Amino acid sequence: MQDALVLQNTWDLIRANDNLLKSPFFPVLFSFTVYMGFCLPFVLLDVFSPKLTFLRKYKIQQQNDPTWAMIRICIIQTVYNHIVFIFPFTVAHWYWRPVSYPVQAPGLVKALLDILACLLLFDFQNFVWHLVHHKVPWLYKNFHKVHHKHTSTFALTTEHSGAWETLSLGFFAAINPLLLNCHPLTEMLFFVVNIWLSVEDHSGYNFPWSTHRLVPFGLFGGAPHHDGHHLKFKFNYAPYFTHWDRLFGTLLKTSVKEN
Ligand SMILES: [Zn+2]
Ligand SMILES: [Zn+2]
Repeated sequence: MQDALVLQNTWDLIRANDNLLKSPFFPVLFSFTVYMGFCLPFVLLDVFSPKLTFLRKYKIQQQNDPTWAMIRICIIQTVYNHIVFIFPFTVAHWYWRPVSYPVQAPGLVKALLDILACLLLFDFQNFVWHLVHHKVPWLYKNFHKVHHKHTSTFALTTEHSGAWETLSLGFFAAINPLLLNCHPLTEMLFFVVNIWLSVEDHSGYNFPWSTHRLVPFGLFGGAPHHDGHHLKFKFNYAPYFTHWDRLFGTLLKTSVKEN
């Protein structure tokens, strides 16, 4: 019973703003705001960490800092992708699937298990998509190459990608809560967690509190894992967990040892 009540207040608060939730503009504004909100602390770190030695030691590639020009180009690309590609996609989703909001919030344990299941599914879909786009030169050249512009990651490189990559990975993220019949609040929480993990992956920082250090046995790759992909190119195709790369022999050992 307690479990069912934990998320009820949050859910009641969200439902009280259902005019905003049901707006066709909400999904794109939600996606953009959450993404930029998660990037901002890392952008500030990139600006200030060269002068702050106690923070500097956590930067993975200490010799590479993003310039203002690189930051500006990434922001322009993100705004462009959200307006030109993500907005029409989310409006179509809003039109074809009007969401009805149940009064009852999901139970906390059920919500957490559903989020984990969505993440594992997304990790698998992303791994297959990513591997194929590296193994087929035509796919790499035409679709994935733009994301590899930077060999040293910084938070805003997360969504530095073309239309096909943006939409196909967005589609995987959107379809999983539907496939698993998740509660709308669980779906929202999954989107927030998914955006956070992808930004952290590209942050370029390996903190003592980073997600990969909180998950035991090197099961989660995190920022060193994905930075290793951008640097070495032929390893670490899964975005979050390490089991698919272990299984396919594409795990870069050093990035896990650093964990
Ligand atoms: Zn890649
Ligand atoms: Zn990347």
